[in-house]
Amino acid sequence: MKQVPAHKPIVAVIGGGISGLSAAFWLLQNNIDIFVLEQTERPGGVIRSENIDGYLVDRAANCLLNYLPEVNTLCDAVGIRDEQIYRSPVAKSRYLLKNDQPVPMPQDSFGFITTNLLSLRGKARLLSEPLIPRVNAGKEETVSEFVARRLGREVLEQVMEPFIGGTYAGDPGSLCARSTLPMLYSLEQRYGSLIIGALIKRLKGSRTSCPMHLFSFHRGMETITKAIFQYLGGRFMPRSRVTGIEPKGNSWQVIVEGDNPSFTYQADAVVITTPSVEAAKLISPIDLEGAELLKGIEYPPLAVVYTGFKRDAVKHPLDGIGCMVPSREGYTILGTLWNSTLFDGRAPEGRVAMTNYVGGRRHPGIVEESDERILDLTLTDLQHMLGVKGTPDFVSITRYKKALPQYGIGHQDILRRIEDTPDRIPGLYIAGNYLRGISVRDCISNGAKLATKITRDYGLLA
Ligand SMILES: Cc1cc2nc3c(=O)[nH]c(=O)nc-3n(C[C@H](O)[C@H](O)[C@H](O)COP(=O)(O)OP(=O)(O)OC[C@H]3O[C@@H](n4cnc5c(N)ncnc54)[C@H](O)[C@@H]3O)c2cc1C
Repeated sequence: MKQVPAHKPIVAVIGGGISGLSAAFWLLQNNIDIFVLEQTERPGGVIRSENIDGYLVDRAANCLLNYLPEVNTLCDAVGIRDEQIYRSPVAKSRYLLKNDQPVPMPQDSFGFITTNLLSLRGKARLLSEPLIPRVNAGKEETVSEFVARRLGREVLEQVMEPFIGGTYAGDPGSLCARSTLPMLYSLEQRYGSLIIGALIKRLKGSRTSCPMHLFSFHRGMETITKAIFQYLGGRFMPRSRVTGIEPKGNSWQVIVEGDNPSFTYQADAVVITTPSVEAAKLISPIDLEGAELLKGIEYPPLAVVYTGFKRDAVKHPLDGIGCMVPSREGYTILGTLWNSTLFDGRAPEGRVAMTNYVGGRRHPGIVEESDERILDLTLTDLQHMLGVKGTPDFVSITRYKKALPQYGIGHQDILRRIEDTPDRIPGLYIAGNYLRGISVRDCISNGAKLATKITRDYGLLA
């Protein structure tokens, strides 16, 4: 049973990426004091925007696909609603590569009937989806099993496999469907059919307070993390690497590596928002079983190859968000995002900007290759699929040894164990993009849910 402190509770948030910043933001909103301990000089974690030679380079997240009111609430509170920019009307569809040709991805059910992405047989199989019985909610299926069973193998190979490669740098054959595609999973559980469920949701969706929109900011995605950092003021502590946490009575000691000696902070509760491997190190003296589960979460490597070209060096009109590449096309890139079509101000006049993704679960070894080799392979692909000619006007490569967490089979067990932590170990909370959503939107929303839980646990909310 938690002892409610006589004073206003103080929470130490470990990690200053979007997960930590938003948890801190929402805790402050709930009138709980916080301080954020971040090991590096800067807030934002992987989110980083740089303006180089007139190109706006977002090194990780490029945009935020939002349908949650809490994201808007946060943007309003930290004063960045005016800086939001919305996707250009030209960037409506995504493309999928088929036989070296970018083919627009269908936007609705009618589009799936007319598209040449699927054969007649594939379309017939897709349309029979409402007739497929639902499976027992207890069975953990992979994304491949789930999609092939409900929508057919063609949809799996032509649509879902490139989507998973491009969005999660992952392999649908090893990811847990329930954890990776929670919306599709719940459509099956609730309505017995993805198609029927999506139709019902769409009818209801028009009445929600937050219609879906894709946005970024004039100065890139770092606007959001910088704005939260400014909102937190002196509560954000850079160059504060946490090396240990220890429960002491009703409070916690948080040990921060100092030049010499280490420094210890005192807090009523601790929220760990570092990547899972760091979280595992911090909790292992207290919860060995939880630490072992966290250690097992895989993060494949990824290289992000940002390229700029003169407009006339690219034959394709680039009239979309970008193009995702199925593995059977035999390309190196997992996909390409067309930044200068998506948002204004991403490339100098007369130039176009693209972000290309290389590696992931599909080709992890390529991320170890030299910059020249990675660029060469990328340009060969862009030449085939988009008719890109000559050398780029601008190149910047970012490598992630561990890019994005994979929600593999067994992820539901991880969630049960990790989310149960504060009941077993009062005052210890764990969050991060490796639990319930990798997107910036989900990190913000999960921060809000966590803050509500902590506020409730401390008796400050009914
Ligand atoms: C290439 C790429 C492209 C992406 N594109 C998109 C996109 O377009 N849209 C979208 O919504 N999402 C996108 N994402 C996902 C999203 O950006 C991430 O999931 C999210 O930013 C992760 O935030 P986080 O705070 O959970 O983790 P991180 O950003 O990793 O932050 C963790 C922080 O913890 C700190 N830390 C670690 N150990 C310690 C310690 N011991 N003590 C103190 N601090 C510590 C780290 O320094 C870091 O600052 C992308 C991700 C990548 C990698």
